[in-house]
Amino acid sequence: MTKLLEVRGLHAAYGPTRVLQGIDLDVAQGEVVALLGANGAGKTTTLRALCQMMVSTQGSITLAGQRIDGRATEQIAKAGVGHVPDGRGTFLGLTTEENLRLGAYARASRTGAEADMERIYGYFPRLKERRAQQAGTLSGGEQQMLAIGRALMGKPRLLLLDEPSFGLAPLIVKDIFSIMRRINQEEGVSILLVEQNAKLALALASTAYLIETGRIVLSGPSAEIRSNDAVRRAYLGE
Ligand code: ATP
Repeated sequence: MTKLLEVRGLHAAYGPTRVLQGIDLDVAQGEVVALLGANGAGKTTTLRALCQMMVSTQGSITLAGQRIDGRATEQIAKAGVGHVPDGRGTFLGLTTEENLRLGAYARASRTGAEADMERIYGYFPRLKERRAQQAGTLSGGEQQMLAIGRALMGKPRLLLLDEPSFGLAPLIVKDIFSIMRRINQEEGVSILLVEQNAKLALALASTAYLIETGRIVLSGPSAEIRSNDAVRRAYLGE
């Protein structure tokens, strides 16, 4: 499989607080990869480090053969990395459609943005119904859909998803995960998924990494990780 993302020796710190201690991680073209770990392990920080947001980093981050570490966050977005941050990053005072349009600023080229918006509405019909509604009036699930839709408007090759299930009812989560699977399969967008719900994450991803206190302690095919005793006890509640 062709490598899309290659991360080597990634360190990240908030000022003097060192969080990541040398992470190696790969995402192949078209692959879904899950990053699992307990609260505070460094999952969110890994995604922030990949888009050079809020943290200082060391190590190399290569996207489709080009080094992107050290570039500005918006350049990384233009290079093809879409980030759906924790807390979703939606502009609550703007409408659904205005939020989607803002996502288009991350594109390398504006061509095709309108057609992409229609395709995104195809994945998320509820967003289309609520296109003129202020984002602040949307339900939590709809806001999560909007955050994913907005990142897709940037035409990413790689989508970084931070806890898409957070605070949502199980049925909505199921819905969002099945749409993410379609987006991966139909659009060929690769996904790096941070998720507390390890069962869901392992069902979607083909490869998983386990992070503990800023270090990768286990990685492999999802089926292997799922049958690991320590993972079953600590993350799958078995
Ligand atoms: P969670 O699921 O709780 O978000 P996580 O694995 O995503 O966990 P991170 O949010 O990456 O963990 O946090 C890793 C460590 O970095 C924690 O010890 C946290 O307190 C610290 N940290 C996170 N954000 C900041 C910040 N802005 N400034 C200083 N320290 C931070």
